[in-house]
Amino acid sequence: MRLRHKPWALDYLQENDHIAKLQPEQLKGKWAEEFGNDHPIHIEVGTGKGQFIANMAKNNPNVNYIGIEHFDNVVVSAVEKAIELGTPSNLRLIRGNAEKLEEMFDKGEVALVYLNFSDPWPKARHEKRRLTFKTFLTRYRNVMPDGGEIHFKTDNRGLFEYSLVSMTNYGMQLLDVSLDLHEDDVPDNVMTEYEEKFSEKGHPIYRLEAKYE
Ligand code: SAM
Repeated sequence: MRLRHKPWALDYLQENDHIAKLQPEQLKGKWAEEFGNDHPIHIEVGTGKGQFIANMAKNNPNVNYIGIEHFDNVVVSAVEKAIELGTPSNLRLIRGNAEKLEEMFDKGEVALVYLNFSDPWPKARHEKRRLTFKTFLTRYRNVMPDGGEIHFKTDNRGLFEYSLVSMTNYGMQLLDVSLDLHEDDVPDNVMTEYEEKFSEKGHPIYRLEAKYE
């Protein structure tokens, strides 16, 4: 992702703190209070410029959505997207690193985790950074109830194959696997920025749903 330097990014996020959360650990265990209801909470880890999470929030008012993104500049774009879509009241954006997920949420507070077009980190020495590496799978498990699910999309075949193996080795059950999502014609599919970009180039989009025991 190209990062434009935005020296005003932090000020902008602070001005929009009804959407952007800079200290998410203060909301651990209190997200239902933050949203003002008990609707299930779905998170997207590595949300980028927010097209997916903001549209999901707009389309599904009975689910609460939280996008997590670690770059200020990119969270700014996600806030702008949320505002463009009418600032859905069921959407929040966390500026933070998913390595600290357990400091942001209590066990069982998150109902579902979305991973979309996660950075592939192809070098073996960067395996730990992949969002489907076993330590991340443990973090997701620790914030969901038993039987929680991950829904993952990517155009990167290497990362997809790695993730199938990583999740299976972790003891997760694969519920659904598609090797060409757009060919399968899933009616409610909400496209991410990367999904639009890569499918326009003719790349197949891989998708899986996996469940913890
Ligand atoms: N999900 C978006 C999409 O599909 O268009 C963005 C995909 S982009 C390739 C991956 C994003 O994940 C980047 O914006 C990156 O900053 C973010 N990211 C990667 N690792 C992260 C982490 N550990 N915590 C938070 N964000 C992360």
